[in-house]
Amino acid sequence: MMEDGFLEPQRALTAVSDFVAEGLADGAESAALDAVAAEFKLRMTPAMRGAVRRAGDPVAAQFVPDAREMHPGLTHRYPDRVILHTTHSCEVYCRFCFRREVVGEDGPLPAADLEAALDYIAATPAIWEVILTGGDPMTLSPRRLRAIMDRLSAIPHVDVVRLHTRVPVVAPEKVTEALVAAITAKSGGRPVIYVVVHTNHAQELTDAARAALARLAGAGIPLLSQSVLLRGINDSVAALEDLFRSLIRNRVTPYYLHHCDLAKGTAHFRTTIAEGQALMAALRGRLSGICLPTYVLDIPGGHGKVPIGAGYLEPEGAGWQVTDWQGRTHRYDDPAR
Ligand SMILES: *Cc1c(COP(=O)(O)O)cnc(C)c1O
Ligand code: SF4
Repeated sequence: MMEDGFLEPQRALTAVSDFVAEGLADGAESAALDAVAAEFKLRMTPAMRGAVRRAGDPVAAQFVPDAREMHPGLTHRYPDRVILHTTHSCEVYCRFCFRREVVGEDGPLPAADLEAALDYIAATPAIWEVILTGGDPMTLSPRRLRAIMDRLSAIPHVDVVRLHTRVPVVAPEKVTEALVAAITAKSGGRPVIYVVVHTNHAQELTDAARAALARLAGAGIPLLSQSVLLRGINDSVAALEDLFRSLIRNRVTPYYLHHCDLAKGTAHFRTTIAEGQALMAALRGRLSGICLPTYVLDIPGGHGKVPIGAGYLEPEGAGWQVTDWQGRTHRYDDPAR
């Protein structure tokens, strides 16, 4: 068969270069595909090559390697950032955890998987930011963390490394000098390191937790927070106000308030979205803008996170109706151009 000018090959395709030569894989992705091939065998018979009508069609998609196959420890959903699941362990196991089916399983990512993930990051120039999560990356030893940070620092296109952790709050004694040194940029200030602290209630911010946050902030590490909106825990204006003000007092900028995920056995923690929006609307105006995180929903099915805060703007005729922080509405028209 000579469809699309492809020559029917006489032998099976077994290497990335074979797939590239056949026009089935993109040569620009060779490095990332080599990482896939290092992990998983490739083989496509002449019969199946002959059945392909065009690159990416239903036959091709079954046999052509794809960078998305990588890696056990990697989630690459958005083009510019990737999540590296460094470990399954946490210092606490939260009852509402959205990853509760995988956390606590078998500790750190196996060395071979970590290597493969780092190779993939190095081979994918679009990756600007690497997010270390888990489990909780701060449960790793300082030595292990330093090794990961060193590898990431050597990748020129990685400008930001972000750690998502609950350790500074739930096990503040683990934020030692060695741990802080392990995650501090060595020289030249790159990559920039951000720590995103997961905390849900001001009562978690004990003296020891505040001291741990001060050690991180004192080392020049920008601190953000993420919280989960939880029924009976922080679903009141007073609880959220206290939490967000306490965070700012400790040099932590509130980043995300997550709507509670649909994880199994967590229904008793979940509010409705309307309740979350009402809380955010009540906080707007009452609380300094720097205290207010973005209320987000992780759309079930892996479709990403979106802001779901109260709408302040509605189309009205040729213009807009805007709602102010006290709930009064106003008309706004874009000036004629
Ligand atoms: C949340 C998330 C990120 C990070 O998103 P930001 O909006 O940049 O904080 C990246 N990848 C996946 C898969 C995520 O769920
Ligand atoms: S610390 Fe985070 S990942 Fe670990 S159990 Fe709690 S919510 Fe889940």
